[in-house]
Amino acid sequence: MNNNPTVLEIKLSSIEHNLNFFRSKLQNKTKILAVVKASGYGSDEVVVAHLLEKQNIDYFAVAYVDEGIALRKAGIKTPILVLHPQLENLSLLIQYKLEPNLYSKKIFLSFLDLIKKSDLERFPIHLKFNTGLNRLGFKNSDLDFLLSHLKSNDSFTIASIFSHLVASEDPNERDYTLDQINQFNEIANSFELSLGFKPMMHMTNTSGILNYPEAHFDMVRLGIGLYGFANDSQLNSQLENVISLKSVISQIHEIDKNESVGYNRGIIATHKMKTATIPVGHADGLFRSLGQGRIFVTVNNEKAPIIGNVCMDMIMIDVSDIQCDEGDQVIIFDSQQEVLKMAYQANTISYEILTTFSDRIKRISI
Ligand SMILES: *Cc1c(COP(=O)(O)O)cnc(C)c1O
Repeated sequence: MNNNPTVLEIKLSSIEHNLNFFRSKLQNKTKILAVVKASGYGSDEVVVAHLLEKQNIDYFAVAYVDEGIALRKAGIKTPILVLHPQLENLSLLIQYKLEPNLYSKKIFLSFLDLIKKSDLERFPIHLKFNTGLNRLGFKNSDLDFLLSHLKSNDSFTIASIFSHLVASEDPNERDYTLDQINQFNEIANSFELSLGFKPMMHMTNTSGILNYPEAHFDMVRLGIGLYGFANDSQLNSQLENVISLKSVISQIHEIDKNESVGYNRGIIATHKMKTATIPVGHADGLFRSLGQGRIFVTVNNEKAPIIGNVCMDMIMIDVSDIQCDEGDQVIIFDSQQEVLKMAYQANTISYEILTTFSDRIKRISI
């Protein structure tokens, strides 16, 4: 049992709200793949996937095979695309009916070998094309190789072809993005010419969904938007915050002028003050760079800055002017604005803040 008083709350009704917001941006025929990698962006992928399965989501995606296995073991029946499978776990992938992204010649040929031996029929595979991200995927110049292997083969079926945008959130890169979309359209045309059909196509992540409706194709890949973020404060306000981090006051101290608080005397009191110690620290994902007053937490509806240095398992906050007692609740964050402020202060992005909270913190869904 995990009796850690620090909890990450997952608000399920907000995920539903956010899903419906994105549904309203799509044509009826456009499918939605929900990205639940990295424990559902730091939340709880099983809880999120069960909720979305009830909402008739079309597809899930995870990054690694283990993440997909966890979903299957939890009873998820919806198709699951594994975005980044590795050679060593291709047979596990088949065993758990997970659908691979085959992104290189090596993994493509290994997988083909394996399914031919396992006498499977029409096992779904996905092919990823590199249109500029230069991370994973086949190039345009690999098309002949691919198409020659794809003709008349009953052991697998091409469930989809896809690509990934480099800068879908950045209006300054609009030309680059449109070029990616064009390249992807040309690849799909080559498929149609050579194989006589166009496989299901998908290209957009959250900000791509919002900024490039012309690239919705047959399916969109919705990740961080489900969790309340859309790269723009006006849109964020139409989404609901999903993830909140809450804790309690462990101890209160009266500090005299010239006393210090925390490691390396991170703060020296210039006047009498009252501090509270909270059981969450940098080992839990609350970055050390957020100390020294860079963010506030909330105690009894009042804002209290983190003072001194963030410790491994604790922070100290200034509650000099706040009525509070040991055991009172502390909200580290419960809004998108607070997550974005943390990201700004730690010189990172909301994605890294959300996915960084350790397993020591209990997840609860409400
Ligand atoms: C993570 C990921 C997504 C989801 O992106 P968001 O910006 O979170 O919506 C979509 N596609 C691929 C290939 C990814 O790796």
